[in-house]
Amino acid sequence: MTLSGTVVHRFSPSSVEQLDRVRYWLGFDRLCVVVEEGAPWSLVYLTADGGALTTAGPHITLDAARFSAWLDLARVDHRGRLRRSPSFAEAQAAVAGIPLSLPSADPVHAPRAPATGANTPPRSHLDSPCDGCAAPCCDHIVVPLTRPSGRAALDAVSSLLETPGLSVGVSDDGAWALTAETRCTHFDADTRRCGVYGQPERPGFCRTYSPWACEFRKLFSGDPTSHFLSLTSRQFEAVRDIIPLSRGGSALGWPSRSDCSEHLAKNDLP
Ligand code: SF4
Ligand code: SF4
Repeated sequence: MTLSGTVVHRFSPSSVEQLDRVRYWLGFDRLCVVVEEGAPWSLVYLTADGGALTTAGPHITLDAARFSAWLDLARVDHRGRLRRSPSFAEAQAAVAGIPLSLPSADPVHAPRAPATGANTPPRSHLDSPCDGCAAPCCDHIVVPLTRPSGRAALDAVSSLLETPGLSVGVSDDGAWALTAETRCTHFDADTRRCGVYGQPERPGFCRTYSPWACEFRKLFSGDPTSHFLSLTSRQFEAVRDIIPLSRGGSALGWPSRSDCSEHLAKNDLP
């Protein structure tokens, strides 16, 4: 089967926390993981009409069921470190009988309207911070992105952003991230709440995420107090103009979040 999608993150799992993150990602539409022999794993954002994904050599595509089979062969120690990963051949054999069930790669969904009010903040400390929230945490993922070191890396980010549904986040402290629109298959659209709340299927990431310090809500509701500014492809191209480059194409500095905001406002691209 040929995959059509964009690699949004590469990683080499080495801890329970990272394995849990894989389980969390594989609960979302539009995401799968590709394991290549002797190479980091790739988190792939599936697209209905994007280019075919190319891999250098043999690879295994993991969905949630196949990852579960891979996990059965892995061993972690009491500190949560991954002590034994199945070899590529063992993993191939483990998933061979499990038909690949790729999640939906439908075009990006329209933003969901808030449940009540317009992402209203909690009225008192007795309210849940999630009250009145449209739950963007369940229809976006955020993965780290290395800050581009020069023209070639900036071109790579520009190319990533050609995929509809992807944006770049620039933070106050200079960290960059990639955000992807998707939707968790566990989300209950009727109750607008997690459909596996309190159940073992709920990833540890969701169980331990503090809604009191929630960045998802701020970022995706355009709250100016968010630590991140989200840039679409068009906005990113404008921001590139204020990244100074050496003659050789290396980045000599990076604009802060507020520099980016000012530049976008000046260019009528808020
Ligand atoms: S965790 Fe954050 S984004 Fe998710 S529902 Fe609660 S406040 Fe909203
Ligand atoms: S809280 Fe529940 S619905 Fe939301 S991302 Fe986590 S598992 Fe999915």
